[in-house]
Amino acid sequence: MGDTVQQFFAVKAKIAAAEQEARREAGAVTLVAVSKTFDAADIRPVIEAGQRVFGENRVQEAQGKWPDLKQAFPDIELHLIGPLQSNKAKEAVALFDVIETVDREKIAAELAKEIARQGRSPKLYVQVNTGSEPQKAGIEPRAAIAFVARCRDVHGLAIEGLMCIPPADENPGPHFALLEKLAREAGVAKLSMGMSGDYETAIAFGATSVRVGSAIFGSR
Ligand SMILES: *Cc1c(COP(=O)(O)O)cnc(C)c1O
Repeated sequence: MGDTVQQFFAVKAKIAAAEQEARREAGAVTLVAVSKTFDAADIRPVIEAGQRVFGENRVQEAQGKWPDLKQAFPDIELHLIGPLQSNKAKEAVALFDVIETVDREKIAAELAKEIARQGRSPKLYVQVNTGSEPQKAGIEPRAAIAFVARCRDVHGLAIEGLMCIPPADENPGPHFALLEKLAREAGVAKLSMGMSGDYETAIAFGATSVRVGSAIFGSR
């Protein structure tokens, strides 16, 4: 077994242990394997080991490797976890099954237009900038609930989840707790939170999916 596949199984085992520790149901947490910067030859063994849900942060990079892999493995679910430019909405709707980074009115409008045009409806999450970091994408926490409502009422978009990336230098727990509270108040069921360094913590705070890259594929 290669290193990557071994690391994949180790992460799966840690997710199962964290679910149990948090008294969550077995299988309550979906692993999104983040394959950015890795190519199809690195990804394929993880697919063959049974993984079907993957995350990429750049539309163009994903277009280079995923169409062939999705054709070979039609049950793959591909998540966009990086910032979306409105001029890439067309490509994103065509390729991704879940777009986790809806964070402003213009993107919501572009996505609504493309979903109607293409007749393809990726699931949508709103990214929340829980640390209000100026350089980071995501809507401000205080505007998140109203934005989820506007996505539905103005743009006709069903928002299924919230996503966050806590500040790198802070304890992530309060950020995960804030995202969970916002999701509850917004009436949204899915919580995408937790990465290689903190996914077990995120599971304790109610994550329904964790986005794990380097702990599986190695450092980038
Ligand atoms: C790269 C990335 C991840 C994975 O990060 P690791 O620390 O390698 O697990 C998770 N979420 C987002 C949004 C990312 O861009």
